[in-house]
Amino acid sequence: MTFQSTDFELKSAQELLSWSFERFGPDVGLASSFGMEDMVLIDMIAKLDNPIKIFTLDTGRLHEETYEVMERVRSRYGLEIKTYFPDQDAVEQLVRNKGFFSFRESVENRKECCAIRKVEPLNRALGELKAWVTGMRRDQGVTRTDIAKVVEDLDHPPLIKINPLADWSQEQIESYIETNKVPVNALHKKNYPSIGCAACTRAVEPGEDIRAGRWWWENPEHKECGLHR
Ligand code: SF4
Repeated sequence: MTFQSTDFELKSAQELLSWSFERFGPDVGLASSFGMEDMVLIDMIAKLDNPIKIFTLDTGRLHEETYEVMERVRSRYGLEIKTYFPDQDAVEQLVRNKGFFSFRESVENRKECCAIRKVEPLNRALGELKAWVTGMRRDQGVTRTDIAKVVEDLDHPPLIKINPLADWSQEQIESYIETNKVPVNALHKKNYPSIGCAACTRAVEPGEDIRAGRWWWENPEHKECGLHR
């Protein structure tokens, strides 16, 4: 089966989520790091007759605030969050050999840490699915300007990747959150528009790119962790 992104471009986020469950049933999952976009999608999913499963990657380096918003999702929506952790041996070896902050030393080292703490657990999670949903948007930075709403995931064949919010603006996200009283990570109020691991995320200055606080010591074109290319 081929998926033409043009067929889906005019569908709303809710329509795409409903279509995802109709098409893939229990074999589709939302990959959530509980950022604002993910919280919008979780709120939409909770309102579906057939909620899509939600999974997350706990790298072991997350902010306390991220765990707190995860708990709020569990208590408010009653949705199960399937959590994947990194391989214990790989983390132990990385830290023994290179210390706790090797990711600051080079892009190569940073990608090594992301590969162990994020990419391998993601691949395990995706191995149980036929399609995955993400909160990626086109205006989140230079690495995301041309993402499609539905696309064959060439990095994880034969999976299908669904980006229901691809054409949403930051203003639309904030408006949905306010209107629907969606819980969000407390760090957003401290100028963290995009949140990853604690050691690799800082607050942004007014006028900076949304993802400027992620791996702020690197050039913008390197700012993906291997989950999305
Ligand atoms: S974001 Fe930083 S701490 Fe987290 S996995 Fe990547 S390099 Fe490691």
